[in-house]
Parts: sequence; structure tokens; C-alpha cells
Amino acid sequence: MLVFRTIFKRYILSNSKVILLLKVKKITLKKAEVSLVAEMIKKSEYLVVFTGAGISTESGLADFRGKNGLWTRRDKGLPPPKSKHFDEVEPNHAHLALVELQNQGKMKFLISQNVDNLHLQSGIKTNLISELHGNYKFIKCLECDSRFSRDEVGWIRDIHGRGSRKEPQQPNQPICEKCQGRLISSVVDFNDPMPEKEVELAKYHCFECDLMIVIGSSLSVFPAAKYPKLAKDNGAKLIIINIDPTRLDHLADLNIKAKAGEFLLKLMQELENM
Ligand SMILES: [Zn+2]
Repeated sequence: MLVFRTIFKRYILSNSKVILLLKVKKITLKKAEVSLVAEMIKKSEYLVVFTGAGISTESGLADFRGKNGLWTRRDKGLPPPKSKHFDEVEPNHAHLALVELQNQGKMKFLISQNVDNLHLQSGIKTNLISELHGNYKFIKCLECDSRFSRDEVGWIRDIHGRGSRKEPQQPNQPICEKCQGRLISSVVDFNDPMPEKEVELAKYHCFECDLMIVIGSSLSVFPAAKYPKLAKDNGAKLIIINIDPTRLDHLADLNIKAKAGEFLLKLMQELENM
């Protein structure tokens, strides 16, 4: 909470600079949109947020399907975009806004496609998030499904490898201290099964929510992207905040074409003044 407030005040102080920057980038944060989202959050009794790689681009990580995304460039035959390593980045305004909404009891649950650990690092509680594609910081047991940090089990990437499910188990790799089962990376690779517990939790909260806000996802990766649709089909309102068009724009009650951090900063300011 303190962290957010500090940043928030800094933002107010440099308000004119930010507005100038936005004009240069031709991104307009429409006041009406900010107010509308704030109103919808205020009325909501069960807000669930769904995030994709776009929420982390302002932290310096590349996304997948954005204009300069990993897959967009690959499809054009271009080399990968410049991106920092997960270890080098910090949560941005959007991550911190979600922590604030969680601490206020407004956001009941967070579903994320990201493996960058920025949600947990920013202060999201582990029991309030489903990381559908895993988290690069964690290793899990193939037998009992326990999750450990890599540091906790002494997993050193240069010695023990990535721990991919598809690679054969190496004799020197650490094993589960609870059941002696095989440990693998918690990150879900292509064609790997989705983590059962995370999927069930995500589904449960999609049925419970009356408002779902998607942030920074092109919603093109299935089955993960089916969750916003599930929420909408069950009567929830759907807001999509993404700089580029998404596959589910036609279903959304509100489409906001903005950068996540910039928009959420304005939104939190609006909510505080309401
Ligand atoms: Zn185990």
C-alpha cells in the first residue's frame, strides 16, 4: 500500500509531464473511459482480473503478439525483440494497482498467463492467483504436485538444466523432499498439460465473478483465453484493456486501447477520488 502511494504521489507531481508524453505517443487516455471503469469496479462485488504478457511490457519484457512481440517478429522472419531477463525487471504501475485492489478486498482473484513472477513479487497473495502457465521461479513435483522455489531445492539452472517435462530426468537433479518424486519446471511448455489445480481455481472464479477485467492479453492462446469468455457467458461484465485488438473485443462491454500501467495509474487516482 505504501509503495503504491509513494509512486502515486510522484505521478501527481509529474502529471503534466506524463500528459505531454502521452500526446507525443498519440495515446489518449480518455477521461470518460477511466471513469466508466472506475464506476464498474465500484459497483462490482466480485472482480476477477486476467493478465497476459502485455502487463509486463512497461517493466521491460517483450510480449508475444504485440507489434514488436516475440511471435509477431518470428512470423515475419525477424530475430527476437530486445527484452530484459525476468531477474532484471521490477513490477510496474499496473502490477502495483492490482495489489492495491487486492488489499482493498476489491479484486477477489487474479488469473495470469505470465510466468515472470512479477505478480507475486509485487505482493499478490499466492492463494489469490492462478498462474496458468507456471512461474519461472518454481519447480514442482510430478508425483505430489508440491511446489518449491528453485533456491529452496537447490536447483541451479546451469547444472541441472531447465527441468523441462519432455527432457529425460538427470541423475543429479534434486528430487521432491516430501515424496522423492521427480521435480520439473512449473512452466508449461507447448503441448504440456495445463496445471489441474490452477485450471480448476480459474474456472471457479470465472463462474463467481460479476466483472472480469482483461489486461495486456491478445487472448489468442487457447485454452487460457477461454476464461474471459467463460465469465462473460456466465453473466459477468467484460472489460479488455490492451494496446492492440484482441480476439474477444466483440464480446467486451468496454474495449480500452491503452498501455496497462498508464491506464491503471489513472484508474487508481479516479477510484481514490470517488
Ligand atoms: Zn512430491
